[in-house]
Amino acid sequence: MLVTNEINVTYLTGFTGDSSFLLLTRDKDLILSDPRYTEQLDEECPGIDLAIRKPGTSHTQLTVKTLKKAKIDSLAVEADSMTLTWQGVLQQGVPRIDLVPTSGLVEELRAVKDRQEIAAIRQSIQVAERAFAVIRAQLRPEQTEREVAHNLEHTIRQFGGEACSFDPIVAVGPRAALPHAVPGDRQIGESDFTLIDWGAQVKHYMSDLTRIMVVGRISPKLERIYGVVLNAQQAAINAIRPGARLHDVDAAARNVIADAGFEKQFGHGLGHGFGLEIHEHPRMAVDAPGELKAGMVVTVEPGIYIPKWGGVRIEDDILVTKDGHDVLTNVPKGLAESQIV
Ligand code: ZN
Ligand code: ZN
Repeated sequence: MLVTNEINVTYLTGFTGDSSFLLLTRDKDLILSDPRYTEQLDEECPGIDLAIRKPGTSHTQLTVKTLKKAKIDSLAVEADSMTLTWQGVLQQGVPRIDLVPTSGLVEELRAVKDRQEIAAIRQSIQVAERAFAVIRAQLRPEQTEREVAHNLEHTIRQFGGEACSFDPIVAVGPRAALPHAVPGDRQIGESDFTLIDWGAQVKHYMSDLTRIMVVGRISPKLERIYGVVLNAQQAAINAIRPGARLHDVDAAARNVIADAGFEKQFGHGLGHGFGLEIHEHPRMAVDAPGELKAGMVVTVEPGIYIPKWGGVRIEDDILVTKDGHDVLTNVPKGLAESQIV
């Protein structure tokens, strides 16, 4: 099998550089890379066999040469990452090779985290939560969405995060009706609430949380909608255990929202796995096949979005344990606790 997805190469070998492939054969693992990475490969995955292209030789030439030398006649490829260009290169360069498309093989392995990965995710959550506590204490009505997003990223890095796990979403009032709003010039004080969706990256592993911050008085409408979302989230978290079907966990939250009359205002799936990437297997949604397994880490993030008014989403990170679940995130989520002066 030729692993061409860079994140999959990282997962399988520990090598975090790019532009490199991993060739897996029955008796050999081989990384195909270039001279920029010789030292890094030695540090990150000592002992693994390397094929390093020489200056003047292209990545395609090295790959073709390696496949020919290994006398491979049937090669599994990652259909979701291999380009048509590469397919052409392999078919032309190694004419007798049979390319077998595969999808999600490594991604499926990545969905179940081992102890080391869970430890990294816990650290990433800790950094994200500490940074958020600082941001929350500093939040002022005159700050813009962009400023808050910037401060959040800065603080995450100060606390040892490598980066944000994605560009933070800071959305004031009506902007929060867009699940993936981009921070702009609106000031926190322009509305009675602001949605913040953020995460940190530590040791290449991510975290992903969402909270609502309230400025001043809590309006009855916000209180009602927030209560529905919180109940929906709790219902879904309660349903998390090994063997729970993905669409059933989604339904646990969706039913609460539908019963309150907001079915059409919850347009996305309930949550997703995350790890080396922010969106990984499994995906919990209405039509999602499959079930939860111990070791999976998923977000639970129901939301209600009302155009021109705003959106409420609450997102936490949950580990599926042998006999149930463990809520890894720990940011208070009572509305009163979300008020800033
Ligand atoms: Zn999020
Ligand atoms: Zn998420």
